[in-house]
Amino acid sequence: MTSPSTPRFTTHIVHADRLSGAEHGAIHAPIHTSVQYGYNKVEDLIAVFQGAKGFNYARQSTPTTVALESKITQMEQGQGSIVFATGMAGICAMFLTLLKAGDHIVVSQFVFGNTNSVMGTLADLGIQVSMVDVTESANVAAALLPHTRMVFVETIANPGTQIPDLDGIGALCKQHGVLYVVDNTVASPYLFRAATVGAGLVINSLTKSIGGQGDALGGSVTDTGQFDWSNYPNINVAYRKGDPKGWGLQQVRKKGLRDMGGALSSHAAHQLALGAETLSLRMDRTSATALALAQWLEQHPAVARVLYPMLPSHPQHHQARKHFKAGSWMLSFELRDPAQCLAVCNRLQIPIKATGLADTRTLIIPVAHTIFWEAGPEVRATMGIAESMIRLSVG
Ligand SMILES: *Cc1c(COP(=O)(O)O)cnc(C)c1O
Repeated sequence: MTSPSTPRFTTHIVHADRLSGAEHGAIHAPIHTSVQYGYNKVEDLIAVFQGAKGFNYARQSTPTTVALESKITQMEQGQGSIVFATGMAGICAMFLTLLKAGDHIVVSQFVFGNTNSVMGTLADLGIQVSMVDVTESANVAAALLPHTRMVFVETIANPGTQIPDLDGIGALCKQHGVLYVVDNTVASPYLFRAATVGAGLVINSLTKSIGGQGDALGGSVTDTGQFDWSNYPNINVAYRKGDPKGWGLQQVRKKGLRDMGGALSSHAAHQLALGAETLSLRMDRTSATALALAQWLEQHPAVARVLYPMLPSHPQHHQARKHFKAGSWMLSFELRDPAQCLAVCNRLQIPIKATGLADTRTLIIPVAHTIFWEAGPEVRATMGIAESMIRLSVG
């Protein structure tokens, strides 16, 4: 109900390329590999340096990365997006360019392992981080401080599938003028648009749902247009020009993409854009398969618990039903006998024992032994990760 209807959604994405004027009638946007962009008159080059629309150097943008950015903006129904070499490049660029030493942020205690690791880096840089159970917005409310700049959550947390009180936190952020950042990687803009719960910025690892083929890395940051940047204290004077609506993304683009350099290649941008065109079909199908598998596993005598948002037994099932069109491709389960964890993975024929998510192939991984090994048993316990948890990414 919060997602656009299927035909509109996909039709827009598939026809977006032609709107910018296809060369030679090509119906796919071409891959622009040029690093430099030249002009006949130096005045035109100067204009681009001074803020006019145009290209100068591929670390900032190419026509191919811009075509992908507009597809993502369209899907999230935002006002602009920036694409990065990976999801983590986008997440780090966003944190490091919008926060300063002395700031405080509230972060879901259920986040992707590498995002969790970044919290340590931010703390070392003098940013105060509170990790809370975001399934109750009261926990977020209790953690807010006068210098809280941002609340960061994942729509469906990897790997525990926890779902935040999405609209409760949105209302809280709005009331306190705090930036609400939602990592929408697992749900994707097809199943859920974070703009509907008041998110100011939306993150997507394009490597996952949007690319969907397991053949290209990428990430994006989208501004939904809902956050009032004019009151945000960390915008550099250089970017406090023109309409305040553009200030935040402008700072992330200049400081986070241009200076930090995590630029997406045009080749990868093209592959991800092709993947995006089939997002709705893949999400419908993988969600249906994942639900069937979750229901089957839940009946299995060797299985202690199945975590999948569309199962009535899921602790935040009501949130999932309220906000998501379907449950997506990720499910996790725990065995009654933890000692069987590796044997179960090894016995399966079709799921490939590999890390990663949202490939066309089904992937399986024991969580505690691999992606959450570095976190250690205490952190795993606070994140709700049982030692026998197995994660499936349904292809
Ligand atoms: C994979 C993932 C990321 C990081 O994306 P990469 O493209 O692998 O860097 C961030 N958030 C979530 C929820 C993810 O699943």
